[in-house]
Amino acid sequence: MVLKSLIGMMSSDLSIDLGTANTLVYLKGKGIVADEPSVVAVREGSRGERRIIAVGNEAKLMLGRTPESIRAIRPLKDGVIADFEIAEHMLKHFIRKAHNRKKLVRPRIIISIPSGITQVERRAVIESAFTAGAREVYLIDEPIAAAIGVGLPISEPTGNMVVDIGGGTTEVAVISMNDIVYAQSVRTGGDKMDEAIIQYMKRKYNLLLGESFAERVKIELGTAIVENGNDKMELRGRDLGSGIPRTMMVTADEVNEALSVPIGVVVETVRSTLENTPPELASDFLEKGIVLTGGGAKIKNIDKLLNKETGLPIVIAENPLIMVVLGCGRALDDPDLLKTVATPGR
Ligand code: ADP
Ligand code: MG
Repeated sequence: MVLKSLIGMMSSDLSIDLGTANTLVYLKGKGIVADEPSVVAVREGSRGERRIIAVGNEAKLMLGRTPESIRAIRPLKDGVIADFEIAEHMLKHFIRKAHNRKKLVRPRIIISIPSGITQVERRAVIESAFTAGAREVYLIDEPIAAAIGVGLPISEPTGNMVVDIGGGTTEVAVISMNDIVYAQSVRTGGDKMDEAIIQYMKRKYNLLLGESFAERVKIELGTAIVENGNDKMELRGRDLGSGIPRTMMVTADEVNEALSVPIGVVVETVRSTLENTPPELASDFLEKGIVLTGGGAKIKNIDKLLNKETGLPIVIAENPLIMVVLGCGRALDDPDLLKTVATPGR
């Protein structure tokens, strides 16, 4: 018992938000120590052998810029683990990095995962964390972690609704008494918005944009409700007719039109979750509203659009990209909370 608490004091417990777009690591007593894209760059040999050459920021810079033998892989892209080996490598990389490559006492690790992943995938995440040196591993569902991060009173018998718009998925959940009452996860998020911009420019102007550029357009000009339709920015892409690089201007009106389908999916998911929520809990939302988190919560006017479509107050989390990892961190600090909201890995 004494030994155990001594180990607890010396170890550097971690919480990890294993996101489809970004992975964040929080080190107890220190705060967020890693915040990088969930991307791994791999060199493929002629006989199919693979060698990992970069992870995180460095690997994202390589997206779309690599020679054929190098591939940038996003192992969790659509909210499922597409490549176990790469996902495991990425997780271990971030755990080592958080500990600054020093050999520390084996940490407790709490990991938040997209709620759509399967039992087999959960097992794989747990095993990777153990082989990376964890002493104890816990999993927590992303919407619950987000709700804790935001500071919602999830242990009370009232309804809390969280909408987490990530890269690969959007998770909508109703939480009461520390549990998910009803949830939906759809494979539409920021990535689908980037793709929609690429498709739109291809169809309308025969211009091919890179993924990273499309993301920039979304962040700079994207909006759920247009205010100044003539706002514009310069695009750089490749003309599909001539094959030559070309620039052109795009307006906020056009970007809004391009985004209408993926944003519509988010709105519909919120609406159908509301329809499936027991009326007693749903009536709580009239007062408390719906909380938006995840990178997609930063799309301009998404709160106004959801308010218009549902009639409910919409609150954007103060720092939507870090709520999940902070929520996990809080659970790490509070043994009772950890016991109620997290599933132990062994
Ligand atoms: P995940 O949890 O799936 O890893 P995140 O919550 O980290 O996803 O959100 C990543 C998504 O948020 C990306 O698609 C990114 O383009 C988008 N995003 C980040 N900042 C903004 C912004 N200011 N406006 C619109 N989208 C944004
Ligand atoms: Mg997330």
